[in-house]
Amino acid sequence: MGTHEAERRLRDRLAEVEARIAAQRRTVEGIVESSRDANGDDEHDPEGATLAWERQQAAALADEARAERAQLLAALDRVAAGTYGVCEVCGRPIPDGRLEARPAATRCVEHAR
Ligand SMILES: [Zn+2]
Repeated sequence: MGTHEAERRLRDRLAEVEARIAAQRRTVEGIVESSRDANGDDEHDPEGATLAWERQQAAALADEARAERAQLLAALDRVAAGTYGVCEVCGRPIPDGRLEARPAATRCVEHAR
C-alpha cells in the first residue's frame, strides 16, 4: 500500500472521528440543557437519573473517539516518518487487510494479542 493511500485513509477516518466527537459534544450539551429544564434533584428523580446515565454514556463515547483520534494522529506521524504499517514488535509489514480494518494498528495480528 502506498504512503498516499495510507495517509488518505487515515485522514478520512480522522474526519469521521472528529465528526463523532462533535456529535457527542452536542449530545452532552443537549442532555445538560434538558436536565436543567427538569429542575429536580438528579439522584431521586427517575428522569434525572436517566439523563445522568445518558450523559455518562455520551461522555464515554466521546472519550473513546478522542483516544481513537490520538491513535490516528500517531499513525499519521508514522506515515511521515516512514514507519507506518510495520509491526512494532517483529518489524514485519502489517497486512493491508488489517490496516484497512484498523488503520491505526501498530502491530501485526500475531502480536496484537
Ligand atoms: Zn508482529
